[in-house]
Amino acid sequence: MSDFDEPRVFLAGAGPGDPGLLTLRAAEVLGRADLVLYDQLVPKRMLDFARADAEKICVRDLPGHHPDKYPHIYDRMLEAAREGKVVVRLKGGDPLIFGRGGEEAETLRNAGIPYEIVPGVTAALAAAAYLDVPLTHRAHTSAVAFITGHELPQKANNKLDWEALAKFPGTLAVYMGIARLPILVAELLKHGKDPETPTLIVERASLGEMRSVTTRLADLEAVRRAAGLEAPGLILIGEAVRHRQPSSWFEQRPLFGRRVLVTRPRRQAEEMVRRLELLGAVPSVLPALEIRDPADWSAVDAVLERLPEFDWLVFTSANGVEGLLKRLLARGADLRRLGRVKIAAVGPKTASVLRGFHLVADAVPKDVHSSEGLVELLAPSVGGKRVLLARANRGRETLPVELAKVCTVESVVVYEQHESLDTGSDAFAALRRGEIEFITLSSSNTARALLRAFDETLRGRVLRGDVKLVAISPETAAAVGEFGLPVDAVAELASGEGLIRAVIRRAQAEPKGTD
Ligand code: SAH
Repeated sequence: MSDFDEPRVFLAGAGPGDPGLLTLRAAEVLGRADLVLYDQLVPKRMLDFARADAEKICVRDLPGHHPDKYPHIYDRMLEAAREGKVVVRLKGGDPLIFGRGGEEAETLRNAGIPYEIVPGVTAALAAAAYLDVPLTHRAHTSAVAFITGHELPQKANNKLDWEALAKFPGTLAVYMGIARLPILVAELLKHGKDPETPTLIVERASLGEMRSVTTRLADLEAVRRAAGLEAPGLILIGEAVRHRQPSSWFEQRPLFGRRVLVTRPRRQAEEMVRRLELLGAVPSVLPALEIRDPADWSAVDAVLERLPEFDWLVFTSANGVEGLLKRLLARGADLRRLGRVKIAAVGPKTASVLRGFHLVADAVPKDVHSSEGLVELLAPSVGGKRVLLARANRGRETLPVELAKVCTVESVVVYEQHESLDTGSDAFAALRRGEIEFITLSSSNTARALLRAFDETLRGRVLRGDVKLVAISPETAAAVGEFGLPVDAVAELASGEGLIRAVIRRAQAEPKGTD
C-alpha cells in the first residue's frame, strides 16, 4: 500500500446548514482544497473550512451555467483535476441524494480520475433531528422514503409510482416539493392516502432561520401559503410527524430565530458566531475594526531586548498578548526572555490567551475587567516599579495616566486597530433593511466606527427600539451616548460571553413577535 496516492478529487456533502453537521472528513478535505466548486444551496459558512487562499467558485457563476446542464461544471472539475489540484465538489446535504453525485462520479470514472465520496447529513435527517420528529418509530413507522418532488405525475418519464407512495408504510420525505405541492398532495389523496395524515414543511432545517408548519395532509398547501413558506423546503408526511411538539429542543434555545450582529474583527468573531448559532440565533458578522500588525516592529523589538528591566507586563487585551508574544517567538526567542517579570491581564479572556502561551497571569481584576479594574488592582503593589503596557495604536489613556501617578510606565504598540466597516456588505444591507434585532458592541472604538456610519433611518430604528444596541461595558455604553443613541443593555461581564448573556436577557424579556 506504500504507493497508494490519495485521490485529489472529492465529492463531498456539506450537510444541511449548521457547520457542526459537516463531517470531519469533509472538513479535512476542504482544508486541503485548492479549488472548491460549491452548489448555490451550500451555506457560505462551510467555505470557512477551506483555506483563505483556496479558489471558491459557486457553480452558478461558472460560464455557461444552466440549472439543468452540467457539462461546464464537469469541464472545470476535470481541468483542475488534470492540473493536479485538490478539488472539492461541495454539495448541500449528501452528494448522492438528489445531488447528481452519481453523475459526477461517473464523469470522473470515465475520465480516469480517482475520486473519493464524502457523505453528508441529508436534509431529511436534519429536519427530523431539529424538529424532534423520529423518522422511524417502533410503534408505527418502519420505513423512510426519500422522494423528489420534481417528478411531475404527468411527466412522460415520471419514475414515481404514486399509488405505491400513497400506500408506503412509513415516512415520506419529499425534497424539492414545494413548487408542486398541490399536485403532490392531490396525487397522494387520489391514491387513497388519508387526508388526516400528519405532515410538515420545514425550511432552513438546522439553522436559526428554520421555520416550519405542521398540519394534516389535506390542508398542507393552504397552511404553507398562509405561513409564507417558500422553496427550498422539505416535506415530511406520515405518522411520525404526530410526535411534533409545539417546539423542538432547538426551537427552545434562548435565541432561536433572533438576528444578532457581531461587530468584532473577523478573526475574533468566529467564537461568538459559533456560540450564537448554538443558541439558535441567526448571527451576521460586520467587523467595524480590523487588527493588523504594527506597521513597524522596531519599537517592539527594542522593548523585547529590555524586558528584564521591567517589573510588570500589563496586557489589556487578547490581541496585545498575541502581538507581543508572537513577535517574541518569531524573533527566535522563547518565554525565558520574560524572566521574572510579573504579568497582569485585564480579564479572563486575556488570561486564557496567556495560558495558551503557557503563562499564568499574576494579577487579573476580579469584577471590573477594564482599565479602571486594572488600576485598582495594580496601584497598591506597583509603587515605584517599572511597568510595561502592551497595547493598541489607539485606546483609552486611563491606564497609563493613572498608573503613572504611582510608578514608571512605558507603553509599546503591539498591534494596530483600523476602522474597516464595509457599508457595501450583506450584513450592513441587512441592518439597513431592519433585519437585525441586536447589535453587539465589543469595544468603544467598535461602537464609534459603526455608529459613525448610521444615517437617519438607522438612528431612527435604534431610537424606536427596533434595533437594540448591547454594549460590552459601561465605557462602550458611554461611547454610544456620544452619538445621542441609547444602549438597550450593558454586559455584566466585559467579554464576548457577557455580551451574549446580555442579549439573552433582553431577548427573554421581549419574546419574538410581541412587538
Ligand atoms: N443533496 C441534498 C438535497 C439536494 S435537493 C441533501 O442531501 O439534503 C435540494 C432540496 O433539499 C431542497 O429543495 C430541499 O427540499 C432540501 N433541503 C436541503 N437543505 C435543506 C434544509 N436545510 N432544510 C430543509 N430542506 C432542505
